[in-house]
Amino acid sequence: MATRRSARQTAGWLAGRSLANLERVSARIAAGLRSRPRLSLAAICLLVAGLALGWLPTSEPESTPRSVVLNLPATSADQAMAEVAIPEVVPVPADDSPVSLPEPVPVTEAVSPDWTVVEVQPGQTMERIFREVGLGPGLLHRVVHLDDRTRGLARIRPGDQFAFDIDPDSGFRALRAELDEESWLFVEQGPEGLSSRVEPRTLDRRIVEASGVISSSLFNAAKGAGLSDNMTMRLANIFGWDIDFALDIRTGDRFALVFEEIWREGEYLRDGPILAARFTNQGETFEAIRFDAGNGPDYFAPDGRPMRKAFLRAPLNFTRVTSNFNPRRFHPITRQVRPHNGTDYGAPTGTPVWAAGDGRVIRSAYNNVNGHYIFVQHGNNVVTRYLHLSRRDVRQGDRVRQGQTIGAVGMTGLATGPHLHYEFLVNGVHRNPRTVDLPDAEPLPADLMDSFLSAGRPLLARLDRVEPTTGVMLARRQNGSCEGDSPDC
Ligand SMILES: [Zn+2]
Repeated sequence: MATRRSARQTAGWLAGRSLANLERVSARIAAGLRSRPRLSLAAICLLVAGLALGWLPTSEPESTPRSVVLNLPATSADQAMAEVAIPEVVPVPADDSPVSLPEPVPVTEAVSPDWTVVEVQPGQTMERIFREVGLGPGLLHRVVHLDDRTRGLARIRPGDQFAFDIDPDSGFRALRAELDEESWLFVEQGPEGLSSRVEPRTLDRRIVEASGVISSSLFNAAKGAGLSDNMTMRLANIFGWDIDFALDIRTGDRFALVFEEIWREGEYLRDGPILAARFTNQGETFEAIRFDAGNGPDYFAPDGRPMRKAFLRAPLNFTRVTSNFNPRRFHPITRQVRPHNGTDYGAPTGTPVWAAGDGRVIRSAYNNVNGHYIFVQHGNNVVTRYLHLSRRDVRQGDRVRQGQTIGAVGMTGLATGPHLHYEFLVNGVHRNPRTVDLPDAEPLPADLMDSFLSAGRPLLARLDRVEPTTGVMLARRQNGSCEGDSPDC
C-alpha cells in the first residue's frame, strides 16, 4: 500500500537535507559492514575523521540515538523508514563526548606470514593439495590416520582453508585446519612424531540494534533495518503469542531490537540471539527480554511474565497468509454484516495448520458445511475448531501438542476459496481468537526477578535509544484497520 509523504515528513526531510549526504554515507557503511567489514571499517574511520572535523552541527539534541537514519530513495516511499544500528565498536557521537577511534579488529589466530595458506578449489583432493605444497602422500596417510580428529581431513570441501608450516630444510612442521566454527585443528611434527591438538578460535559477540516502522510489510521494514528474513521470523516468533502477524499488522506499527552479531577474526559470521525486542502493534506496545531461568533461554515481559502462552495467536504460518481475505462481508441484499464466529485466514491449499495449544482431538470428520474439520479440547474450558481443511492428520482421541501440524488449509465444504476458518470457544462461547486474553505460562519465580531485572534494564534502555523518533511514526494512519470494502470502513 502506497503512502504519501505527509507535510510533517516533508518538513523533517527538508530539515534533514543538509545532513542527507552524511546520512547516506553512514547508511551505506552500516549496510556494507556485513559484506565487507574491513573496507567498511576503513570508511568508518573516514566518517569519524569527518565528524571530528566538524561536519556535524555541534548542538545536536542530547536524545539523538547513536544510530543512523536510513534515507530511502523517493521511489521506495512505500517502504519503511528505518534506522540501522551500527556495531558497538563504531562511535558515531551525537553529543559532546570526545570522539574515540574504532578499536582495532582483533585478529587473534592469524598464522605467521611464512605459513602457506591454501583454499580448496572445486575438484581438488587433499592429496593434490599436499603435492602442490611439496608434501608427499606418505605424510598425508600418516596425518589422516593419526586419530579421530584428523580423520576428517580426508573429507574436504571447496572453500575450506588449510595453512601449512613447511621448513625449507627439514620439511613439514605443522598443519592448521578449521575443525569447526569455533576451533582450529593443529597437526604438528615433533621429535616424538606427529601429534594433534585443538585450539579455540575467538568468537567476537557484538551487540547491535535495529529498528523500523512498517509502511508496507513487516519484511520490507525489517529489510530496510538491515535484518535478514530469518531474523524477522525470529522477531515475529517472540511476539506471535500476543500479535497475530497474519492479520493484525498495520501501517505505523514499529519495532526495535537489540541482538548479537557473531564475528570471528574481524569478519561477520552470522546473527546471534535477539536479546531484547519491542513491538508496537496498533498502538499497543509489547516488550520482551531474553533470559535463562534454568530451562534454557526464553523471552519474558519486563514484569517477568513469559511471552509464551498456552495458545498460539494464529494456528498457521503468517508468511503464507493473504491478509486481504475479508470475512466480514457486507451483505448487498440484507444490508447487514453476516455474523461470523471465527477468523478466516486466506492461505494456499496445503499450508500446514497447527494445533493452537496442547489438547485432545474431540472431532475429526467431514460434512457438507465444514468440509474436513477438526475440533480440539484444551483443558476443561477451551475448544479450538479448524474448518475447510484439504486433509486431516489426526484422528478423534489423539493427543496433540502446541504447534503440531494437524491438517492443511483447503476449501472443502461451504468455502469460496482456500482458507482456514478458525474458532476459539471459552466455556462454549465463541471468542475472537485475535483478541481473547490468552492464559500465560508460569511467570518467573520471585527469587529470579532481581537478576532478570538487572539483565533487562540496560537492554530496555538500548531499545529506548533506537526507537524511531522520526515524523513517520506520528503520521500513522488513523484508520489503519480499514480493509477494502469492510463494513468497518
Ligand atoms: Zn469463516
